[in-house]
Amino acid sequence: MTQESATVTRVEFDMEWPPGHVAVYVLDGAETILFDGGVPPERVDGASFAERSGYALADIDHVFLTHPHPDHIGHLRAVVEAGDPVVHAPLTASDRVRRPPEVVAERTRQTIAASGADADTRATMREEERSIRDRIRRDFPLDAVDDWVVDDQRVTVGERAIDAVWTPGHQADHLCYVTDLGDERVAFSGDIAIEPFRPALLNDRLDLERHRAVADFRRTLDRLDDLSLDRVYPGHGPVHESFAATLERDRGSLEHRIDGVRAVLADGPGTAVEVADAVVGDHDLVYLFPEVLAALCDLVNRGVAVREAGPDGDRYRLA
Ligand SMILES: [Zn+2]
Repeated sequence: MTQESATVTRVEFDMEWPPGHVAVYVLDGAETILFDGGVPPERVDGASFAERSGYALADIDHVFLTHPHPDHIGHLRAVVEAGDPVVHAPLTASDRVRRPPEVVAERTRQTIAASGADADTRATMREEERSIRDRIRRDFPLDAVDDWVVDDQRVTVGERAIDAVWTPGHQADHLCYVTDLGDERVAFSGDIAIEPFRPALLNDRLDLERHRAVADFRRTLDRLDDLSLDRVYPGHGPVHESFAATLERDRGSLEHRIDGVRAVLADGPGTAVEVADAVVGDHDLVYLFPEVLAALCDLVNRGVAVREAGPDGDRYRLA
């Protein structure tokens, strides 16, 4: 089968988070490629991957993972157990997953202790973070990966060239995979350039790389601006042809978030939780709190704001 005749099969799984699903893609050809792993099989309601896609797990010859979030790696173990695929994943994710769990837990505990949250909320946050890390370790076994991919690497599968583009900010290891389909240049983009909304700025959540999540995402948008893509196959929302428009929307949304955080500080100093409350009201701890914290880190990095230790956690004020 030639590259020109390759077809893409989209497979959706339900999720509790907006927009209510996560999508993975099977690209046929001389070798069958799966982009991303969706949620784990045991969390799939109803039809299995094979029933949804028309492909048995054992048919998959290559797996490309965009980033180690629980809704993008879930079928990895099942695919590896069913067959003998070549698994490609971002190199930097291997370092991150190898970080000693107790060290990451301690750094996360310190971030939460400085957040200004009350004791109950701190306990909930610690549990959420631990749960997410545990799921990633379980569903992303490092020894399943054959090819650790770096930025700008070209991976060849048969006659197909797949170019990896490092796109951190939403997640610190995130790669988009760019290739040609017929006469189109396309990306299997994970959580980048999705149509319904800008991805949250999470990087490594409450660990070290929260400090550069905003700068990372700005650079990601700058870099993607240089790409010309005809079609995007994202992890959430529809397949679309609006690559440039989603980048523009994301840039505006990012700066709107930073401006919102700065406006709260203009009204007076506050802890990260107080700022998050003021910016997004009844905020969710899993997505919006890490993003507001990342925005505060960015303001501190750029000298716009100052962080000072206080009795009830760090307080931020305009410089
Ligand atoms: Zn993600």
